[in-house]
Amino acid sequence: MSWETVIGLEVHVQLRTAEKLFCSDGTVFGAAPNSQVCPVCLGLPGALPVLNREAVDLAITAALGLDCQVHEVSVFARKSYFYPDLPKGYQITQFSEPLATEGVLEVRSAAETRRIRIRRVHMEEDAGKSIHDRVPDGTAVDLNRAGVPLIEIVTEPDLRTPAQARAFLQELKRTLEYMGVSDCNMEEGSLRVDANVSLRPEGAEAYGVKTEVKNLNSFSAVERSVVVEVRRQTAILEAGEEVVQETLLWDERDGTLRSMRSKEESHDYRYFPDPDLPPLRLQPERIRGLEAELPELPARRRTRLMEEHRLDGRDVEVLIASRSLADYFEALVAIVGEAKPAANWIKGPLLKEANRVQRSVEDLGIPPRALADLMGLVDDGTVSGTMGRTVLGQMADSGKTARQIIETEGLSQVQDSDELNAWVEAVIEENSEEVERYRSGETRLIGYFVGQTMQKSRGRADPKALSALLRNRLDN
Ligand code: ADP
Ligand code: MG
Repeated sequence: MSWETVIGLEVHVQLRTAEKLFCSDGTVFGAAPNSQVCPVCLGLPGALPVLNREAVDLAITAALGLDCQVHEVSVFARKSYFYPDLPKGYQITQFSEPLATEGVLEVRSAAETRRIRIRRVHMEEDAGKSIHDRVPDGTAVDLNRAGVPLIEIVTEPDLRTPAQARAFLQELKRTLEYMGVSDCNMEEGSLRVDANVSLRPEGAEAYGVKTEVKNLNSFSAVERSVVVEVRRQTAILEAGEEVVQETLLWDERDGTLRSMRSKEESHDYRYFPDPDLPPLRLQPERIRGLEAELPELPARRRTRLMEEHRLDGRDVEVLIASRSLADYFEALVAIVGEAKPAANWIKGPLLKEANRVQRSVEDLGIPPRALADLMGLVDDGTVSGTMGRTVLGQMADSGKTARQIIETEGLSQVQDSDELNAWVEAVIEENSEEVERYRSGETRLIGYFVGQTMQKSRGRADPKALSALLRNRLDN
């Protein structure tokens, strides 16, 4: 029998706010333990929560960007459970009346575009963190994260392969980043994923029993853990046994899953509306206002760039990786007029340089205008393409213009025949053996001579003029 995989994701995303969801403590990652706490997020008796308006705006924006229905009334509920990092004994979240429902995110791959339905987007507060390696033989608790605003994004079980799950998350992350609602930093836990996985016989309608895989902190962890879980469930079903509904913990180091607890039901949490928080009522104008401010999102931008500039999918995929990179590209095209060379310069030298110095393209200190000038100097032959890339690196380091660097370093391409001739003569003199071989028929040595002369000119010789000159000199 062959099995079809069914995957649904629950994604927790930390909203980019300065303050927590129900108090004014800071949200700085990596601050000294328990330095960003107050009676509200410590759950001290009598302390009352006050909802952070900025967090609500970000949550609405995220929901709108995922094409959700944003509800004018939603309700904060208490989800009760006991854990050392949960001082109140409950988490404030939204349950039966979430902020938003019925969204969709389109995910493209080479083969197809899939519409993944978003079941709901709701707001909730984060819990604190238990730290197991700080106190010998003990566990420490850091409550800085307690009360930090999150949204939880829940998909329908519309994903069918681990690779699709990964692609969905990549598109989701990019979409959230474009909207600026979160930094989506996975290493810092700003985006955390639980994957629900089940199998059903190929062609079957009904879903099988699912398990939930927790603790996934990277795209590859999501993909790898689901592969492992699918393999485990396949073995169980093939043996004629039944999958047990449970929660599994992914161990990143050895690539294994272990059972964490048998699956709880929602009634175990005794959800009820938080009596300290009135229902969240949103004016329709507020929702419409935020909708009007939505930026162009990756899916639309991808299509538009492909149509407007007739670039292929792979080029566009690189260029839309971040909103600022796509902006950079469009600003550059507006100056140089042509998309393909602009795309090539960005994809190649510019991103390489950004990678080298570990900065984003917009922080390189090479605005589109400056790159356009450099491209012009390569086009008109002032410097070679290779030299152009060297100049680009120096622009990033020094903040100087291409022209300044070319002039002060004497990098312009040499076409002057006297200078070229001098280099050619020197190379011929130093390589008499190769000259002889060339003249007795080994003409592919021309490349060697070009290389030698280039080196002598420190890369400045115009390669076209140079090889003509060399041939002329060697053939006669
Ligand atoms: P629970 O009540 O266990 O939290 P839900 O029905 O609320 O389950 O769904 C939680 C997540 O699990 C959603 O992302 C949903 O798409 C996914 N899911 C539900 N049923 C299945 C299934 N049979 N296989 C895979 N994923 C599923
Ligand atoms: Mg769940």
